[in-house]
Amino acid sequence: MDIALFGIQGSGKGTIARAVCTKYGFHYFETGGELRKLASQDTPLAKKVKAVMESGSLVSNEIVMEIIEDFMESLPDDKPIVFDGIPRKPVQATTFDALMEKKDRDFMGILVEVPEDMAMERLTKRRVCSKCKSVYPADYKEEACEKCGGELVTRSDDNPESIKTRFHAYFDETYPVIEKYKSENKLITIDGTPDIETVRDNVFTLLEEKELV
Ligand code: AMP
Repeated sequence: MDIALFGIQGSGKGTIARAVCTKYGFHYFETGGELRKLASQDTPLAKKVKAVMESGSLVSNEIVMEIIEDFMESLPDDKPIVFDGIPRKPVQATTFDALMEKKDRDFMGILVEVPEDMAMERLTKRRVCSKCKSVYPADYKEEACEKCGGELVTRSDDNPESIKTRFHAYFDETYPVIEKYKSENKLITIDGTPDIETVRDNVFTLLEEKELV
């Protein structure tokens, strides 16, 4: 069974996804990360994707679905996947569900809930490693990444204007997707407000209790 993580930007779902993959050997599909890879190329399409991402709006569904299908086809084994950041709007949920059915996969959604003001505070203060993309919260005071020594930088879309656009996209477009999966009993909610180690351990416990790992 695959897992799809939902939550407002800054809820900690990326950190949780990486921890689940490390502990249980899942594959990790980070939609934003895959799109950032695409955007860093030197092509007209990459430039378009980069501009959309910096504004905080959502990239077209065709592009996202192509990336995810390529990812599924590139997997070396049939271990489950943690999906982070997809599906993010109703039309994407429809195409995502169809793709999962076509690939004979199924998933359980986990919603990491945090209030908007806490998410905003975390996003404006976090830094990411320019090399390995590890994420560091505000209380990490060093200048370099503890894993690879890379320089820590602020993500270009972690500015207040872009964050507001991303929050709007979350409430207007992703929220209906969350409601849909709730009504289908495909979504479990966890509290994302404690420190990240506590949330991570709560997710591990939940996955084990529900026999999802
Ligand atoms: P994230 O790293 O999850 O905050 O995503 C960064 C940006 O990537 C978003 O603001 C969107 O521009 C784009 N993005 C991520 N996931 C999706 C998706 N499922 N559909 C469309 N665009 C996405």
